[in-house]
Amino acid sequence: MSVKVCMGNEAIALGALAAGVSVAAGYPGTPSTEIIETLVGIHKPGVSVQWSTNEKAALEVAAGAAYAGARSLCTMKQVGLNVASDPLMSLSYIGVKGGMVIAVADDPGPWSSQTEQDTRGFAKHANLPVFDPSSPEEAYMMVLSAYEFSEKYSLPAFLRPTTRVCHASADVDFDIDAEIKKSDGFEKRPEWCIFPALSYRRHGELEEKQGEMARDFDKMPYNRIEGRGRKGVAVSGVSYLYAKEAIAELGADVLLYKVGTPYPMPERLTKKFISSVDSVLVVEELDPVVEEQLLIEAAGRVPVLGKRSGDMPKNGEYSFEIVKKALIKYLGLPQEKEEREELPQLPVRPPVLCAGCPHRASFYAAKVATKDLKKAIYCGDIGCYTLGNAAPLNMVDTCLCMGAGITIAQGLALADAGAKCLAFIGDSTFFHTGIPGVINAVYQGTDITVIVLDNRTTAMTGQQPHPGTGKRALGDDAPALDIETILRACGVKRVSRVNPFDFESAVGAIREAVGFAGVSAVIAEAPCVAQLKKPEAICFVNDKCIKCGRCIKEIGCPAITPDEAGRAVVNAPLCTGCGLCACVCPVSAIERGERNGK
Ligand code: SF4
Ligand code: SF4
Repeated sequence: MSVKVCMGNEAIALGALAAGVSVAAGYPGTPSTEIIETLVGIHKPGVSVQWSTNEKAALEVAAGAAYAGARSLCTMKQVGLNVASDPLMSLSYIGVKGGMVIAVADDPGPWSSQTEQDTRGFAKHANLPVFDPSSPEEAYMMVLSAYEFSEKYSLPAFLRPTTRVCHASADVDFDIDAEIKKSDGFEKRPEWCIFPALSYRRHGELEEKQGEMARDFDKMPYNRIEGRGRKGVAVSGVSYLYAKEAIAELGADVLLYKVGTPYPMPERLTKKFISSVDSVLVVEELDPVVEEQLLIEAAGRVPVLGKRSGDMPKNGEYSFEIVKKALIKYLGLPQEKEEREELPQLPVRPPVLCAGCPHRASFYAAKVATKDLKKAIYCGDIGCYTLGNAAPLNMVDTCLCMGAGITIAQGLALADAGAKCLAFIGDSTFFHTGIPGVINAVYQGTDITVIVLDNRTTAMTGQQPHPGTGKRALGDDAPALDIETILRACGVKRVSRVNPFDFESAVGAIREAVGFAGVSAVIAEAPCVAQLKKPEAICFVNDKCIKCGRCIKEIGCPAITPDEAGRAVVNAPLCTGCGLCACVCPVSAIERGERNGK
């Protein structure tokens, strides 16, 4: 055994290695990304690690490996589970042979997600067991248990860490010298093919397993009753730590029920807990998953308070302070006076595209190219380019979920005949779920323009490779799939490629594409600035500046600001010399120079 200070996501990866995982597949998404990154960093020979094109692909890859008896890991964030939900629902019927853990990181808050959805609800919906770690150490142990549990019941098992667990650090005892569990090969059986008669039978078996699993969960150390008293508190996930600390600080007599496996709930422990208390407060982030199961068990004999009763917040991330306040009210203790030290207000810093980001140039070129249209609608997508919605660009009118920009544009084009709809999509998102939307647009004969913002990486989550980059997760070479070839193969007749910093050409290409009747596409190609070495060239403002403020008001580059007199000033350490501001200036007051001396 070794001990290391690990982030929760690292602990999950180490747990998978300790369990002998041989195939790991995922799609990047905060707060789950570091699980696969850790497996890439350690890379144990014989363990296959991949960034898949999307979560559905990752889940299917992991399922295929588990069909053959290998232990597999699939990782994603909570919204990715929606993409993977189709295979997931069938997989719960088909089952697996080797252990399969689906690690889905939830984002209460949400800190960096479209939704706060709760994976425990998905586990219940799919009738699959879920482990809900309260800390990085527990996450490591739970991965080991989840593999054993998965193999025992021939079902995939969920691990559902939340942002606090994923990104918190703690000492973790680990041992990754375990042998990789070798697959004993795929055995052909009719049960691997889902047909109605089999589904009917499997559904019955799956329902039977719920009770067996609930009884099995009684024996696991992650579920336990602590403390004493007739006042009950039930907790799930990281809320356990908040509640434990608050109870200790209040010196209260409380019977604390720690639920580490919120679905299905442990059977005997749940009955024992309900019969030992006069009331219960349930503390769990997001959905009332434990609360609803306790309400059923209590059957009106014991009041169960929580989100439904308004005693706990229904949304957002919990904290020690929130839980302590709720406990004080529940226990009838005197309310504490709020003696908070006033902290100085932090300056507001709205999220903004990086200085020199090629997406800024693409958005601005599209804005200029479409300025004479009667009506243009700009459909955005998920990625750092969603920030194109901010002023002064204002170039993202819609944003729903991965890949939806292209299809939303089609719906808008059908419903608003007078508008020209442009869909912006990043290269990684194009491979993730953009391609079917392009096929639909061509097939349906819709008149839209797709602008692929190709910066050759999955920038938002930390520069992961994708099928267009020519690299795989482990850094080895891969065929680089060409976006233009794919677009043409999908039937797009008009495709052009531009460098968005070649501004006039970019405007011209977008104008021509927008004028094309039918599906047209422009691929705006320039690498992500975060991947580039600081260039030698930067821009500076010369004496010709007439203080019109255009360079600041039109493009919103954080490297260019006005001085007290209203004259534009370029912040040299931030500037990448991309030259976009020079394209905007009406009097050629912005020039290119060398980083060290003009
Ligand atoms: S050249 Fe202009 S637009 Fe480009 S990074 Fe520098 S200040 Fe920003
Ligand atoms: S656009 Fe040109 S003239 Fe106007 S403020 Fe910027 S640098 Fe000065």
